[in-house]
Amino acid sequence: MRILVVEDEPTIAKAVADRLSAEGFAVETAADGPSAVARARETSPDLIVLDVMLPGFDGLEVCRRVQADRPVPVLMLTARDDETDKLVGLGVGADDYLTKPFSMRELVARIRALLRRVERAATLSTAEPVTRLGPLEIDQRSHRVRRDGSEVHLTPTEFDLLSCLARHPGAVLTRAVLLEEVWDWSDASGTRVVDGHVKALRRKLGPDLIRTVHGVGYSLEARP
Ligand code: CA
Repeated sequence: MRILVVEDEPTIAKAVADRLSAEGFAVETAADGPSAVARARETSPDLIVLDVMLPGFDGLEVCRRVQADRPVPVLMLTARDDETDKLVGLGVGADDYLTKPFSMRELVARIRALLRRVERAATLSTAEPVTRLGPLEIDQRSHRVRRDGSEVHLTPTEFDLLSCLARHPGAVLTRAVLLEEVWDWSDASGTRVVDGHVKALRRKLGPDLIRTVHGVGYSLEARP
């Protein structure tokens, strides 16, 4: 597995790269926005660890440009919790967020969880290739989603979240269940990550498909 580490602070970049190498990953590094996009294009990483504040252009722009080429899981490094909230609210297309300072153990756990999700999604894709629910068509093999016949571009996490809701159409799934099924973590403080991705899905798919059940969770209002 190849990981691209994008971080402009040399001490953090080195510590992360050394630890990930020791864990058996092939590690590439970049220290600014433009070279991060170039490295991602050259090396096709399996995952990107991406700092937000970077010279050139920032991590949000890197995320946007890289995701436009090819969906790739992104773990965003933020400076503060409120920065994470802001980015989640914007729906920037990162799959998970980690606030600095973080432990290397936590970083590795999050990376492994993300990679497991991608792998699981690939396994599911061979079992049931296309799900049709109302106006939605979800192709697990190509990771394509259409609404009323038009293709909707989703990030890997948005795709996983939609797939999870689509496995239980009409049922209300709690934020905790979604967090565990989609993100593979059980930390309740992460539920705002769920809200942010639901918001992004609604923006892309239209506001009518995902229902909020206040105090409980979300359900997909589309029938086979
Ligand atoms: Ca930085």
